[in-house]
Amino acid sequence: MTQDRLEQLKLPAARQNMNRIGRWLTDVRPLTIWERDNRTLSYGERKWRKRARQFAQEVIRPVAIEADLNHHRYDPRPLLREAAGRGFLSLLFTPPLGRASILPFLRSAVMQTALIGEEFSVESGGIGLQLMAHYLGIAPLLLSGHLPSILRHFAPLHMKAMTRNPVLMAFAITEPSAGSDVEDTEGGAAARLITTAKKTNKGWLLNGRKVFISNGALAQKITVFAKLKGEGLESWTCFLIDKKMNGVSVGRQERKMGQRPSDASEIILEDVFVPSRNVVGKLRAGWAINRNVLNYSRSVVGAMALGQARGAFERTLAFCRETNLGPKRLIDYQDVQLELADMLIRLWAARALVWHSCGELRSNQAAASAAKVFATDTAWEVSNKAVELMGDHGYVQTNGVERGLRDARLAQIYEGTNQINRLALIEQQWEAEIDKNTTGA
Ligand SMILES: Cc1cc2nc3c(=O)[nH]c(=O)nc-3n(C[C@H](O)[C@H](O)[C@H](O)COP(=O)(O)OP(=O)(O)OC[C@H]3O[C@@H](n4cnc5c(N)ncnc54)[C@H](O)[C@@H]3O)c2cc1C
Repeated sequence: MTQDRLEQLKLPAARQNMNRIGRWLTDVRPLTIWERDNRTLSYGERKWRKRARQFAQEVIRPVAIEADLNHHRYDPRPLLREAAGRGFLSLLFTPPLGRASILPFLRSAVMQTALIGEEFSVESGGIGLQLMAHYLGIAPLLLSGHLPSILRHFAPLHMKAMTRNPVLMAFAITEPSAGSDVEDTEGGAAARLITTAKKTNKGWLLNGRKVFISNGALAQKITVFAKLKGEGLESWTCFLIDKKMNGVSVGRQERKMGQRPSDASEIILEDVFVPSRNVVGKLRAGWAINRNVLNYSRSVVGAMALGQARGAFERTLAFCRETNLGPKRLIDYQDVQLELADMLIRLWAARALVWHSCGELRSNQAAASAAKVFATDTAWEVSNKAVELMGDHGYVQTNGVERGLRDARLAQIYEGTNQINRLALIEQQWEAEIDKNTTGA
């Protein structure tokens, strides 16, 4: 078959034989899936997505390799200040408290955050985490739904995050012997917690340890969850602590496999006096606040993983376009095309699920967990495929694909391992599915 005949049979040429309506019904525009999906977003969402992509390419990309390989020497503060100044740390609420576009926010409280999380993570999973972990830290102040906590703490901190001098936050639930246990109902019932709050005159004395806290060393304030003395997880209460409080110190900082620019640190609490005004939400509401935060943030983690998958795909595509194997470019081999198509299909499906999970104003536990599991597994599979297609080039540390593989593995673990997220889906969905999907009833 000649090249001319092939071109004639392709849809753009073939549709010329149709009438005007038929041509109109046949969409042949050469849009990338990024562009195609963009068309489904509102104006405000498109604006933040585009801005985040530009920021990621101009500001994150140039430092991404260095921030991963020499993360002990990398100072993230200039980048974080720049991000805050451009509004990327204040999308958890609309003006005057934040910068989220109002109408899309009323449709989905988390979509705009998810969109920027994807864009940042295309260039660096670790810097993406560093930026987005701030949201995890500040979210309990809002999602407690407790007006005094919102007015006293969330509003000023979120407004400060619009300036180039943000107060960075972290979120601390994990303890040395309680990881999954504090992310899952059944685990929670058996959790062995050590971080305890004891009532004193005008507040609370906190003692204990939190571990693996993203940005724990960098953050200035942390939302810490503690049980009340003599009680169990059902008494969990959220406290806003300041790193300057007496008795707060940073212990071990983990040496991580991936997402290295963001520290994962131990936070040690020794007789830390926390005034009553720093109790977030009501006493004993900590477990519910924690679950609420995770049900929102797991969609965002899914979006970040999707960004990592996209980064791997884009780098592989560029490599296959630029690299010759024998007489032709890699991309001209059909088996390479099939692999690339498979990667693209997976990340497109992941985006559909992530965006679906962000589809309503309020979070949905099952949808958020499904998106987190699928997108993080996709990031791992697509990154692995990227290394395979790029061979030795994929294995070296200077082109981002090897880093992407390391970064992707972590996304399957934090915010509840993917097993725990499957259990979260079952917890919410099972009864409804079993009751309503009966056959022959
Ligand atoms: C780099 C990094 C950053 C992190 N950042 C934060 C942070 O900012 N704040 C914070 O509070 N925490 C953070 N974490 C903690 C993280 O959320 C936990 O590591 C995670 O929830 C898993 O807990 P675990 O490590 O204790 O694993 P474990 O609970 O010990 O699980 C071990 C294995 O058992 C499986 N498992 C456990 N229970 C079940 C079950 N019921 N059914 C089936 N399988 C099960 C798990 O899936 C896993 O495979 C971070 C962790 C890492 C590694």
